[in-house]
Amino acid sequence: MLTNDQLDKWDRENFFHPSTHLAQHARGESPSRIVSGGSGVYIEDRDGNKMLDGFAGLYCVNVGYGRQEIAEAIAKQAKELSYYHAYVGHGTEASITLSKMVVDRAPANMSKVYFGLGGSDANETNIKLVWYYNNILGRPEKKKIISRWRGYHGSGLMTGSLTGLELFHKKFDLPLDKVVHTEAPYYFRRPDLDMSEKDFVDHCVRELEALIAKEGPDTIAAFIGEPILGTGGIVPPPEGYWAAIQEVLAKHDILLIADEVVTGFGRLGSMMGTTHYGINADIITIAKGLTSAYAPLSGSIIADKVWKVLEQGTDELGPIGHGWTYSAHPIGAAAGVANLNLIDSLDLVDNARVVGSYLNQSMHDALSTHANVGDVRGEGMLCAVEFVKQKDGRVFFDAGDKVGPQVAAALAKEGVIGRAMPQGDILGFAPPLCLDRAEADKIVDAARKAIVSVLG
Ligand code: PLP
Repeated sequence: MLTNDQLDKWDRENFFHPSTHLAQHARGESPSRIVSGGSGVYIEDRDGNKMLDGFAGLYCVNVGYGRQEIAEAIAKQAKELSYYHAYVGHGTEASITLSKMVVDRAPANMSKVYFGLGGSDANETNIKLVWYYNNILGRPEKKKIISRWRGYHGSGLMTGSLTGLELFHKKFDLPLDKVVHTEAPYYFRRPDLDMSEKDFVDHCVRELEALIAKEGPDTIAAFIGEPILGTGGIVPPPEGYWAAIQEVLAKHDILLIADEVVTGFGRLGSMMGTTHYGINADIITIAKGLTSAYAPLSGSIIADKVWKVLEQGTDELGPIGHGWTYSAHPIGAAAGVANLNLIDSLDLVDNARVVGSYLNQSMHDALSTHANVGDVRGEGMLCAVEFVKQKDGRVFFDAGDKVGPQVAAALAKEGVIGRAMPQGDILGFAPPLCLDRAEADKIVDAARKAIVSVLG
């Protein structure tokens, strides 16, 4: 077996890590971790640490680590048929079965799913389909996409543009000009502290209306949003937000893409985030929870209204000019089938609701009176703690103080993984959906100790 020192050397010399300070990593100034195993909600590393993964990898290992049922399904598929493509009507038992299982879990107005590999490429697919849709309908000007500041939809050219976080734009020449951003539904960061939740929803609606008027409704094709803001801060929408936004979209004939990469398949304590919040989407993006990340797989679930136009397009133009070599990869599909079966048999959607609510309540009870905790919020198995320098008047810390990253580092010392969300001082949690109450207690206790160690 290679030694840790050898691996560390190669890692620093050869491995271009995503979302990493490249220079510090190459110089050996930042920590690295070689992860070697996982079971349930725990991972292990090569230094012998066992840590409770309070973020399920990147909110994706929803069934927890080490599930033999999925590993065996993958192995069986690899032995029988590791690959065949899905072009021109080809499929496998796994990919066809998974299509049916996904559609059975989707809202009633949807009956088709296209499979990709990750959330970013699924959203790229979605935007292409929206453009194709409007071209077939004879509306070539209707192409712009509205996204929200702090939304996260990936880091490709188009999806990085949709993402409303500075870090993903800066020096990459993004966003592209077909993407425009509107207000994030982030009540804690409302522009005026005197606003009620209702006032703030009205403000979001006014901002959206003004943007549509400025750009011209005939130029706006779609609005994309996560049912609950994820990477932008783990922020549940204010009461009434989705109903009000959908009214505006309907008025201007704007399609709605619900990005359920994080929320799909149980994370909010409902099978889908769209049903959880009463969202009537035209396209739903899925990834992470589809396979619990045992293999890469994503999807775009298409409403019948859009599908009909896609059919019309291929009748007019021939086969749709879209597809990846690895679309509906049999190994990903086999993992997806086993994963969705496991979510059902272990009743993980309900566990996410019950234990998630316990986690959120316990976090609130333990932390909300701390002088530097401005907000504790969440839904289902998502939870966030936002730090402020001063509660009175909601004064934030300077970004340079790196309070969020410091607390996340202190939390790791307590044996628990949380995530310092990329914009603001926000500690995020998104544990596997199989978390139990004792494990939730451990997360809360570690969070309290970490916060006290950094902020007193
Ligand atoms: N959409 C959402 C809501 C996400 O949270 C993510 C990733 O975190 C993506 C899209 C992009 O997915 P991927 O990283 O698989 O490309």
